[in-house]
Amino acid sequence: MGTAKSVTCTYSPVLNKLFCRLAKPCPVQVRVGLPPPPGALLRALAVYKKPEHVAEVVRRCPHHERAGGDPEGNAPAQHLIRVEGNPQARYQDDETTKRHSVAVPYEPPEVGSECTTVLYNFMCNSSCMGGMNRRPILTILTLEGPGGHILGRRCFEVRVCACPGRDRRHEEETQRKRGGAKRALLPPDEAPESSKKRLQDPETEIFSLQVRGRKRFEMFRMVNEALERTYDRGGAPQKSKGRRPRGEGRVPRGKKLLLKAESGESD
Ligand SMILES: [Zn+2]
Repeated sequence: MGTAKSVTCTYSPVLNKLFCRLAKPCPVQVRVGLPPPPGALLRALAVYKKPEHVAEVVRRCPHHERAGGDPEGNAPAQHLIRVEGNPQARYQDDETTKRHSVAVPYEPPEVGSECTTVLYNFMCNSSCMGGMNRRPILTILTLEGPGGHILGRRCFEVRVCACPGRDRRHEEETQRKRGGAKRALLPPDEAPESSKKRLQDPETEIFSLQVRGRKRFEMFRMVNEALERTYDRGGAPQKSKGRRPRGEGRVPRGKKLLLKAESGESD
């Protein structure tokens, strides 16, 4: 992990954000509390981070799509996320949601290691016109049981850019400054009600949404949970408690996925 100029992939724990270069290998380490049942899959899916873009499927831009799929593997040309060096990778276009994902069979860690490493490639820049178009994305990793039920889930933001080290440094700096500024803006407890209202962060306001269909609901819930997690990680006040929809209890305890990503190259 580092912010050196030459680095092609670097993860910021503060931002919970991976910075990487186009098509470079990004080793993501996955750690599970309990070994999942045989036949478990590890799936990666990208979604737009901002609520106004979240309904749109994340796909490659027309220019990169024309460059084609993976000549050695089976990655479709329009998929943003690929798995490198694993012939068992399976690419899927969901029939209902139309979202792209790639799944690999879960492999237990090597003897003496705690983590399983999967190499991901991101096949467009965040700035690609007609594709991500500068809109930030999240990558959601899910560990699925053989029946497709979710055993664990983790997510992180991804920025694909020319200078991952530099951008990570800049964004961490901005975050530090903004963190300080945000605290300074918070009204003191004795502030009158009206000024508190005025200063309330619109990002923390809570809305309800009715969703038709179980599958669509599960998709929205997944996206919302992923957003909540990055929000909480960003050092913002914890407001997500009690907002979890019913059904969360089905995820077995101790099977949460622990995720960390690290650089493919050291400084
Ligand atoms: Zn592109």
